Amino acid sequence: MKTIAVLTSGGDAPGMNAAIRAVARYAMHKGCKVYGVNRGYRGLIEGDLEEMNLLSVCDIIHRGGTILRSARSEEFMTVEGRNQAATVLKIFGVDGLVVIGGDGTFRGARELSNMGIPTIGIPGTIDNDLAYTDYTIGFDTAVNTVLDAIGKLRDTSSSHERVSIIEVMGRNCGDIAVFSGLAGGAEKVIIPEIDWNIDEICKDLLKSKNKGKMQSIIILSEGVGKAQDLADQISEKTRMECRATVLGHIQRGGSPTGFDRVLASKMGAKAVQLIMEDKTSRVIGIKDNNIFDMDIYEALEMEKTFPEGLYELTDILSN
Ligand code: ATP
Repeated sequence: MKTIAVLTSGGDAPGMNAAIRAVARYAMHKGCKVYGVNRGYRGLIEGDLEEMNLLSVCDIIHRGGTILRSARSEEFMTVEGRNQAATVLKIFGVDGLVVIGGDGTFRGARELSNMGIPTIGIPGTIDNDLAYTDYTIGFDTAVNTVLDAIGKLRDTSSSHERVSIIEVMGRNCGDIAVFSGLAGGAEKVIIPEIDWNIDEICKDLLKSKNKGKMQSIIILSEGVGKAQDLADQISEKTRMECRATVLGHIQRGGSPTGFDRVLASKMGAKAVQLIMEDKTSRVIGIKDNNIFDMDIYEALEMEKTFPEGLYELTDILSN
């Protein structure tokens, strides 16, 4: 019988609970013992582990956030901290650790792998900034949250013939902006990966206003700058009324979409399968709709490319 521990770390993302549930239930189905680690690597260092049973993950698949809670741990960045985490895993007899989080969490898992601890990474972050996988758990829900906001802002912007600038999350990755811009019919998407020019944007806004467009939506990725600064510049140059909305942490919350729940369930089960097969130091991803696993070292070496085709399509379709 194997003993598996699972933790969530870094920024929380909708669907993390569905992933925890899948790890716990699939592992129990295979006859394993499962520990939930509270508060990520911080809780691991402190030995804050609880044995899970079927009821521990009851009624959570639809809930945002993470029942195991998440934390950032400075101590885990030190050799002493990681040694203490390894000692805790040994005390509890853990044969495999599943970490759910973003690139920082994976770098932590790589360090544990270097110490000979069998580790599996499940990508859980709204940013979709991990290069090796098409999607991370939480991204689809975040995009849908932005779409909901775009719909509401469109109603009020068209009534007042305004330009609405919506600042979305994603840090240096423009994926949330590009996907929500395309799906929400935005007039412009501004992302860190592509150079942009304020005068070009103002020219296009004036052209579409003079063609009779009642309102315009601009999606601004947070890695580019502040929505209010852009709104001020556009208002000054075009004399159009321009409003900034910063969606902030609401993008991290909410009930996960069906897509995220299915993705999390498949990835959670896959993580357990890998541990059962003694195949560790791996991360799980999805490519062309297939769940796959790859070496954690290779995955962290890869460079993220942005969805150029979708970006161009957004531009074409906005005219
Ligand atoms: P998100 O993308 O949502 O912010 P993340 O997993 O990237 O999630 P981070 O805060 O970067 O979030 O990382 C989570 C934790 O992983 C950190 O608090 C730290 O404990 C650990 N970690 C990050 N980088 C390293 C590293 N290079 N070595 C060891 N541990 C690390």
